[in-house]
Amino acid sequence: MKNFIGSRSLPDMIYHAPESIEKLFLLLSDAARPFRIVAGCTDFIPAVRTGRWSFDEEVTIIDLKQIKALNYIEHQGGMVHIGACTRLTQILESPEIQEKAPVLARAVTTMGSWQVRNTATIGGNICMSSPAGDTIPALLVLDARVTLAGPDGEEEMLLKEFLTGPGQNTMEDNQVMTRISFPAMEKNETACFKKIGNRTAVIISIVSTAVRITLEHGVCRNVKIAMGSVAPTPIRINRAEAFLEGKRLDQEVIHRCGALVSEEISPITDLRASGDYRRDVAATLVKRAIAECMEEKE
Ligand SMILES: Cc1cc2nc3c(=O)[nH]c(=O)nc-3n(C[C@H](O)[C@H](O)[C@H](O)COP(=O)(O)OP(=O)(O)OC[C@H]3O[C@@H](n4cnc5c(N)ncnc54)[C@H](O)[C@@H]3O)c2cc1C
Repeated sequence: MKNFIGSRSLPDMIYHAPESIEKLFLLLSDAARPFRIVAGCTDFIPAVRTGRWSFDEEVTIIDLKQIKALNYIEHQGGMVHIGACTRLTQILESPEIQEKAPVLARAVTTMGSWQVRNTATIGGNICMSSPAGDTIPALLVLDARVTLAGPDGEEEMLLKEFLTGPGQNTMEDNQVMTRISFPAMEKNETACFKKIGNRTAVIISIVSTAVRITLEHGVCRNVKIAMGSVAPTPIRINRAEAFLEGKRLDQEVIHRCGALVSEEISPITDLRASGDYRRDVAATLVKRAIAECMEEKE
């Protein structure tokens, strides 16, 4: 069996753990190259120990975990703001998230084990920019924006514009992600997250989906459907969204929406699953997620 955590030794490191954003920016301006930002290290350590990431020379590690200003969940003026270093367990246990963004809590429930969630951060999941990153489909249906900051200032952008490819995003070397923000869900909205992997626990998604719908007397409004592991980045499924908009939900409509999802995606074949399997499963997951949204509001 493949050793997931790996056995390679860690490289020589210079370790910094700044306690404020000001100290962090000073380090980002002056740090010896190469340097690497870390937070929970649940992606960093396995990547180094399995040899996916290697460093030929001494590496400077800048650990964000001690910066309290990056660890919070706030609800203000209809917006939810989450500090990038907020741990997954905090998100799962937050009454604000359970009420204002239950779809994100649902996604986090499926991620890793308790031990992983206790240290992994939401910012780390987004900055890895994996097509299988599980917080991302949930955040896409929440219309999330991310804030990047560095010694040269701050910028905010839509999450979907931040993600540019597998493991790729728009972040510069001297930037960090500081915040994730999105409008709170309204009471008449319903949402669901589902994923499938090749085990029942501690799995990387083969396909994942998040669905968010406003149901007005059984008619769908503001439909948002996102999927993970079916494209180079998690994506919104625009044609299926447009199809569902204004429709009254019944089995036939749900079935046609699933078929449209299969047509709209072009998933790859990799070690975890074939493209054809992903296409089939994507339709099934979306149909189940829509049906669950419908049941929740009945
Ligand atoms: C056993 C196990 C199970 C897992 N299961 C899942 C799963 O089910 N679903 C899933 O999606 N993931 C899973 N993961 C992956 C991982 O736990 C998540 O991606 C996690 O959220 C990463 O966060 P972290 O804080 O540990 O990131 P780190 O490992 O500290 O960092 C990851 C990357 O992000 C960068 N980074 C981190 N924070 C910032 C920031 N604020 N600004 C700029 N760059 C930053 C780092 O430079 C690094 O490149 C699993 C990992 C393990 C070990």
